Amino acid sequence: MAPTGSAALMSPKVLLLGLDRPGIAAACEGLGLQPFHHREIYKWMYARRTLDPMAWTNVPKASRALMASRVLSGLPEVVGDQASSDGTRKFLLRLGDGQTVECVYIPDRERRTVCVSSQVGCAMGCTFCLTGKMGLRRNLTPGEILSQFFVLESRTDIAETSYNVVFMGMGEPMANRANLEAALALLEDPEGMAISPRRITVSTSGLAEALEAFAQSPVCPRLSLSLNGARDELRTRLMPINARYSLADLRRVLQNLTRKNRERISLEYVLMGGVNDSEQDARDVARFARGLKVKVNLISFNAAEGLPYQPSTAQATSAFQEVLNRQGITATVRRSRGLDILAACGQLARKHWDEGVSP
Ligand code: SAH
Ligand code: SF4
Repeated sequence: MAPTGSAALMSPKVLLLGLDRPGIAAACEGLGLQPFHHREIYKWMYARRTLDPMAWTNVPKASRALMASRVLSGLPEVVGDQASSDGTRKFLLRLGDGQTVECVYIPDRERRTVCVSSQVGCAMGCTFCLTGKMGLRRNLTPGEILSQFFVLESRTDIAETSYNVVFMGMGEPMANRANLEAALALLEDPEGMAISPRRITVSTSGLAEALEAFAQSPVCPRLSLSLNGARDELRTRLMPINARYSLADLRRVLQNLTRKNRERISLEYVLMGGVNDSEQDARDVARFARGLKVKVNLISFNAAEGLPYQPSTAQATSAFQEVLNRQGITATVRRSRGLDILAACGQLARKHWDEGVSP
C-alpha cells in the first residue's frame, strides 16, 4: 500500500534519475507502487526524456500523482549560460548540494558535440589544467552525469540530430569509474538514452588499473589517453599521475586494449611552447605510438591566468605534426573552441564563475 496522508508528505523524496531498471523497481516498491511500472518509467525518463511523473500517461493516474509528490526531478539549476563568438556555449550547473559543474555545447557546421564532466574538480593536478588547479571537490553521481544531457538537450539543438559526446570536461573519469559506468550503461542502452557508444569518447589521464577494469565492463565507448609527453621525466612534470603509472604501464594497457579489437584510441597531446613541442618530443611520441592502433590529436595549449605555459608557435606545431606523419603516425591538429568564454579543453574551473555568480 502507498503511504497516505501526512505520512506520505513527510517521507523523504526519491531521486530516480540515474537509476537503472532494478533501481527504479526498488524505488517503486519503496513508494508502495507496483514494480511492473518500472519498465514504463524507465522509458519515459531515458528514451523520452520526460522526468515529470504527471506526463507518464500509461502509468495509473493515482500512481502518477503519488510519484509527482514524492519524486525529485534531479535536474540541476542552470546558473550560467555563456555563448562564445564561435557558437560554443558553456553551462554552469548548480547541483543539489550547491557544488557547481560545467558542460559545453560545441557546434561545428552540421556536427554537434557536447563536452561533459565526471567530477567536481579533479585530483590529478596536471600543471597545465585549470580544473586540476582547483583540486577534487567530489565525484558526480550517475544521475548528475546524466543531468548534463537533459540540460544540454533542452537548451540547444542537439536533440534534433545524433550528437557526439566527449568526457573531457571537469574531472578524471577513471577516478569515478563506478558512477561513470552506471551512467554510460543508461546512455548506451538502445531502450534508454540510446546514444551510440561509437559517438561517445571517454578521455583519461591514464589510471592504468582503472582503465583496464573499465575495458572489461559492458560499456564500450571510444577511449582517448591524454599523453602530453612521451618521456617519463617530462610527462611526470606535466602530469603527476605518471609517477604512479609510467608510460611503459600505459603502453602495455593500450596494447592489450587495441588487440581486443577496440576502436582506434586517440592520444591527446597539448602542445606547450618550449616544453613538449620539440622535434625530439615528436619522435618520442612516434616511438610510443608505433605498433599501437592509435592516432594522435594535437591540441593547442589554452592559456589562462595562473598556468605557467605558452602555446606552441604555428611553425613548431606543423613541424611536430610532420615528424609524426613522416613516421607513419596519423596526427591531426584540433582547433580550440570557446576560448573567449573559457570553455576550451582544460579551462573549466569553478573560480571564474565564483566571481560572477552569487552562492
Ligand atoms: N581528466 C581527463 C579528461 C578531462 S581533461 C583527461 O585528462 O584526459 C580533457 C583534456 O583537456 C585532456 O586531454 C587535457 O590534456 C586537456 N587540457 C587540460 N588543460 C588544457 C589546456 N590548458 N589547454 C589545452 N588542453 C588542455
Ligand atoms: Fe584532471 Fe584531466 Fe585536468 Fe589532468 S588534464 S587535472 S586529469 S581534468
